Amino acid sequence: MESARLHEQVKNQTATDGLTGLFNRRSFDRRMAVEIKRSRLRKKPLSLLYADIDHFKRVNDRFGHLEGDEVLKRIAHLLSLGMRTADKVARIGGEEFAVIMPDIPLETAGAVAQRLVTEVEGDSPPVPAMARRKERVTISVGVACFPRGGAEGRQASLLRKADQSLYQAKREGRNRVGPLLGL
Ligand code: GH3
Ligand code: MG
Ligand code: MG
Repeated sequence: MESARLHEQVKNQTATDGLTGLFNRRSFDRRMAVEIKRSRLRKKPLSLLYADIDHFKRVNDRFGHLEGDEVLKRIAHLLSLGMRTADKVARIGGEEFAVIMPDIPLETAGAVAQRLVTEVEGDSPPVPAMARRKERVTISVGVACFPRGGAEGRQASLLRKADQSLYQAKREGRNRVGPLLGL
């Protein structure tokens, strides 16, 4: 087999994202399926945060792609701080992250999202050229919850709701939490 393809295959079989060490999209999808089932059986809430770095393209354009990578790693680290073992943090797209929070009701998830927004805003960027210019990295976070557990076959709807909330946070000016959306 051609080595590039082999490499791709091995990569697809791994559970973590090479850059940040977080769960990748594949393990996010798997974990979501498990948690939705669990929350339904136990009739417990399941919350999802969907975080996206604000104007990240600008970071790459102005400071370089490697510096952008440093920002991604830092954000990944900040998102992981203070999470419970049960919470799963994943990098689900280029500069998009998700946190699966079993047993956590909507309001609490909203408070966690706000803490993350505030922490990221208050952090000094890991790129010296950015720090010198007092540039800040910020994130917007969407929040959604199945209040009484996930309904079968509705995995996509939780992510869609969290994405809607995120989109709203972006529209309202970024560096904020979107509306808390129950299902
Ligand atoms: P918005 O506030 O609306 O989210 O704006 P944005 O610039 O963050 O969003 P957009 O989707 O336009 O750009 C995302 C950028 O993320 C574009 C792409 O170059 C960058 N990106 C995606 N993956 C990586 C990566 O692994 N490393 C680096 N350095 N950049 C990445
Ligand atoms: Mg994005
Ligand atoms: Mg973005």
